[in-house]
Amino acid sequence: MRDRICIVCKQALDGEPLLTLDQMPASAQDIPGQEDLAEDRGICLNLHQCSCCGLVQFDCEPVPYYKDVIRSGGFTTTMVELRQRQYRHFIDSYHLEGKKLIEAGCGQGEFLSVLSGFPVTACGIEHRESLVNLGKEKGLNVWKQFAEEGEILKAPDGSMSGPYDGFLSFNYLEHQPDPVGMLRCIAENLTDQGVGLITVPSLEYILKYDGYYELIRDHIAYYTFDTLRFAADQAGFEVLEEEMVNRDTLSVIVRKKKSPDRLDVSGLVQSRVIIGEELKKLAGKLESEGKRLGIWGASHQGFTLASTTVIGEFARYIIDSAPFKQGRFAPASHLPIVAPDYFHKDPVDVILIVAPGYTEEIARTIVEKFGWNVEILALKSNHLERI
Ligand SMILES: [Zn+2]
Repeated sequence: MRDRICIVCKQALDGEPLLTLDQMPASAQDIPGQEDLAEDRGICLNLHQCSCCGLVQFDCEPVPYYKDVIRSGGFTTTMVELRQRQYRHFIDSYHLEGKKLIEAGCGQGEFLSVLSGFPVTACGIEHRESLVNLGKEKGLNVWKQFAEEGEILKAPDGSMSGPYDGFLSFNYLEHQPDPVGMLRCIAENLTDQGVGLITVPSLEYILKYDGYYELIRDHIAYYTFDTLRFAADQAGFEVLEEEMVNRDTLSVIVRKKKSPDRLDVSGLVQSRVIIGEELKKLAGKLESEGKRLGIWGASHQGFTLASTTVIGEFARYIIDSAPFKQGRFAPASHLPIVAPDYFHKDPVDVILIVAPGYTEEIARTIVEKFGWNVEILALKSNHLERI
């Protein structure tokens, strides 16, 4: 039994299942022969909906052959025409002429062969050896590989390697117990802003026609546009287009999200140098004049200025009116935090206010309590100012 967690968002699948189906076929493949009948029996399947991401899914182990793409039929004129239309749109709209496309889970190359008529370099990966061989016999560039996190998708004979400009995945994701891992692997093997065409069966269709017999353990997940979009997003893709095809299939075009531009924080680095120098100059000047310095404001700004500049050593103390801070020490610099009245016991000549937003109010308090002889300074942006 697998952990009862959502295959996409990993939250617990707690609560009652949406539906419990008994006497269900254990799988759609590996059809029993006469000799298997004694062993074969129906299984019970619990269909859950994740309360976090909304994905509808079975809570059971996937079928043992979930990595293989076994397509029985489906290769009809309608299907070929649909793929041709999808390929044309995908290649034209996303400028993929002459580019490299990879199909993840290509079976024996049914849909890859349709791509042969288009001006792209196409290849495919498939997990089942016998299907890989059938694909090769058709002259397609297919090799045995499965897209899971960390895999580098490249042909063992070196004839093809990434990064790929686009990928294709036709009715494969709904079999996957780790769909996000699969999509992430593909994303890592794509160019920046690489695109993809994904189809999966539509849950909306199943619900519309109430076809409970559409549910099968082979399809461990049942996607809607919303849950598919969420899974793609988790894997680092944005959905650019959504379309319902063949009445029962969701088709989406995704693009790898751009990683965020690295922020320029050189101003912060510079401010540390500038402020450090100004405060060093201030401390030097006061020392030569035999004057003493206090800080007002035991907030994080005051603590950081005390611990990262000379004033942490030079100042006598930090004044703060909050009783719960008094009698304690500034972290890292260990300057004592004192009540305003402490000034009368141990007076200073200059007070540096570090309390953004309250500077004027504190300056008035200082004048009222300690008189006009105390020089008041404040840090505005990255400069010292006399108040
Ligand atoms: Zn979920």
